[in-house]
Amino acid sequence: MVSTEDLQYTKKKVLLVEDSRFEQLIFSDLLKGYGFEVETASDGDEAIKKACEIFLPDLVLMDIELKGNLDGIDTAKMILKRRDVPIIFLTANASSEVIKRIKSIKAYGYILKGTDKKAVIPSIEMAIKLHEAYSLANMFMYIYENSTSELYVFDPETLKFIKVNKSARMNLGYTEDELLNMTPIEIKPEFTKESFVRLISPLLEGKMPEVSFETIHRRKDGTTYPVKIKLQLFDYKGRKLCLASVENIAERLKFERAIKEKEKLLKSITSSAYDGVIVLNAEGKIVFWNPACEKIFGYAEDEVLDKDVHILLATSEKLIKAAHKRLEQFKRTGRIIGLKNPIELKAKRKNGEIIFIELSLSVLNMEDEKFVVGIARDITERKKAQEEIKRTWKLYFELAENAPVGILRCDNKGNILYVNNKLIEILGSPGEEETKKINLLTFPLLAEQGLSGKLEECLKNNEIGTYELEYTSKWGKKVWIRVHIKPEEEDGKVSGALIIVDDITEKKEMEKELYLLSITDALTGAYNRRYLLSKLEEEIERAKRYGEEFSIILLDIDNFKKINDGYGHIMGDEALRRVAKVVRERIRKLDVFGRWGGEEFVIVLPGTSVEKAAILAEDLRRNIADIVLPCNERITASFGVTEYEKGDTIDSLIKRADDLMYKSKNGGKNKVCYHK
Ligand code: GH3
Ligand code: MG
Ligand code: MG
Repeated sequence: MVSTEDLQYTKKKVLLVEDSRFEQLIFSDLLKGYGFEVETASDGDEAIKKACEIFLPDLVLMDIELKGNLDGIDTAKMILKRRDVPIIFLTANASSEVIKRIKSIKAYGYILKGTDKKAVIPSIEMAIKLHEAYSLANMFMYIYENSTSELYVFDPETLKFIKVNKSARMNLGYTEDELLNMTPIEIKPEFTKESFVRLISPLLEGKMPEVSFETIHRRKDGTTYPVKIKLQLFDYKGRKLCLASVENIAERLKFERAIKEKEKLLKSITSSAYDGVIVLNAEGKIVFWNPACEKIFGYAEDEVLDKDVHILLATSEKLIKAAHKRLEQFKRTGRIIGLKNPIELKAKRKNGEIIFIELSLSVLNMEDEKFVVGIARDITERKKAQEEIKRTWKLYFELAENAPVGILRCDNKGNILYVNNKLIEILGSPGEEETKKINLLTFPLLAEQGLSGKLEECLKNNEIGTYELEYTSKWGKKVWIRVHIKPEEEDGKVSGALIIVDDITEKKEMEKELYLLSITDALTGAYNRRYLLSKLEEEIERAKRYGEEFSIILLDIDNFKKINDGYGHIMGDEALRRVAKVVRERIRKLDVFGRWGGEEFVIVLPGTSVEKAAILAEDLRRNIADIVLPCNERITASFGVTEYEKGDTIDSLIKRADDLMYKSKNGGKNKVCYHK
């Protein structure tokens, strides 16, 4: 604010308008002697120019009687039109007419020439001060009137408004005239005269320099708005007046309410949140703690507020140091490194229990302060489960690696994802890498051997399949394998398959051996009766269905008992073996030769007529007759040969052959009898 002292400080400028050179000199010297800066003008035109454009004096000392077409008063009028400057007239003539003219313009008095020239100084100083005071008053008046705050002045005695500025008039909706007949109480519905007087009495009693309060203002139209009012007393013309500065706080209140609502909302969110919400200030002290935090860490809000966040960290010195470092950095830079991803760390509960926390950090800027907001989630259970899964996985992996069966995993496109050692061994592959190059759905060898198709089927139908096949691997290893395919699902879709491969080569060989044993006569190596029966059944079936012919030969060793009795069973056995050998050497591969019982044999001859069978039987008869046993005995056999006839059963067929064989016996043995 500009004070009058400041204005007096600079050297004051006086424009002396005087047509007499002599007077000019005398007044100039005098004024300069009193510290004024002086400029002179000799006529009206020069005076106007200097007063309004060039010199810009603080005061004009104007001779009324000027030479030229403008006299002093005309000149003064023209100056005042352009500039507000105090003017004091000099005149030799104080006639009533001159005085009247002087008064017609805004002048600051006149000085009669010829009186003591020094008397002019106080008049000049007074005029300058007066003018400055007017200017200041104008300035303040302007500020007062145009202030955006509501301002009003009232008399604390009568309570009448004295001055109400534009803002107040606009806000209240009253004209100045209306307000000047009112009191502040009329626009303050919350007050009575008594309560208002009570409010301002500390001011009047000098107990308080100002009084501030919040209330509402009522407009002329009856609506109201919230205000904050400051009342101060000031002196005016020897009495106390009260200045009221009014601030419309509607916006502020609205804003505060909005903030409160937001706070409430935030509070309800954070208190119902499943995640812990912790807010730290730049010192690392906890300033906010929601109920979820209490659950996670075991501390109640009042136990942690304003406490160092380190109480929550697991005891590891390293961890605390790292946290410290981050906080320091945060204090320095207002940023936290690695904010993007949540971090996992060990934390300590109130009861000392160590838990795993997933922590997401962010920086919150509030006014001038920065905070760290941490969202904490207890992931102990998850961590435990993860570790359990890891352990289990390791166990299964080891199991798979060392399993005695081949294990393979593939995706749904047949690409191999995993093979274990045993599978590599089963396939005779040089290693994992080589094996994984095979695509199970497209590899030609697998496709040829039918495995690709089976896998495709299992993947398509999402069903388990077990297949056995004899397989020659890419590396030339021939194996019997049993393949167990189990499709694997992911999100309800088949993502691939787990395949267990068993090397069943040995088992297959054993089975074959067992089977052979089960159909073979141990002594002679010929098929046994059971196999003969199944073969006969098969052939009868084929004959029935396709009309294919077949014959059988039944032979019985002659006088066998004699060998047994004469040379012992061992020799008898040898005889049986020799006969079998002879027969085997003579028959075709598709013929089936078996021991029917004791020293009786049957040969099944598919696709063979009885005539051809008889020829064979005759050959056999001769060859058997050629056998010389180690005991130097010879043996013979009698034959019955017959062909399948429509309606034959095993029994009827055998019976006919048997009958024919007996016919040979009865005919003297070592004979072939046949019959269609
Ligand atoms: P035929 O000429 O009428 O056929 O008289 P055969 O002595 O050959 O017939 P028989 O049925 O009287 O005797 C058969 C003998 O064969 C009786 C039995 O002890 C003997 N035998 C049966 N199976 C075996 C065997 O596995 N080994 C030996 N060594 N002898 C057997
Ligand atoms: Mg017999
Ligand atoms: Mg016999």
